[in-house]
Amino acid sequence: MKITIGAVVEGGSSLQYRTGSWRLERPILDHDACKDCGRCEEVCPDSAVHWEEAGFRIDYDYCKGCGLCAYECPEEAIQMIPEEK
Ligand code: SF4
Ligand code: SF4
Repeated sequence: MKITIGAVVEGGSSLQYRTGSWRLERPILDHDACKDCGRCEEVCPDSAVHWEEAGFRIDYDYCKGCGLCAYECPEEAIQMIPEEK
C-alpha cells in the first residue's frame, strides 16, 4: 500500500475568503449603547470586528452574519437585521 503525504507549503489565512456574501442577516452596532468591552471582537469567528479610532466597526466584507457578536454582547448593542440583497 502506498501512502502519499501532502506538504503544506504556505499558511492559510481567512483574509483570502470574503465571507460577507454568505450573510442573510446584518449586525448593526449601536455606538451609543456600546461600552467598548471588546467581547464582539473576541468571539467573531471571521475576525470581522475591529477597533477603529472612535469605536468598534464591523467589516462587512468578512462578516458572514452568524449573529454570535449580537448574542454575546452584554449591552445588547448589536442587532441583527435581514440583509438586503
Ligand atoms: S460586545 Fe457589545 S458592548 Fe462590547 S464592544 Fe461589542 S458592541 Fe460594544
Ligand atoms: S455576525 Fe458573526 S461574522 Fe458578523 S461580525 Fe458578528 S460574529 Fe462576526
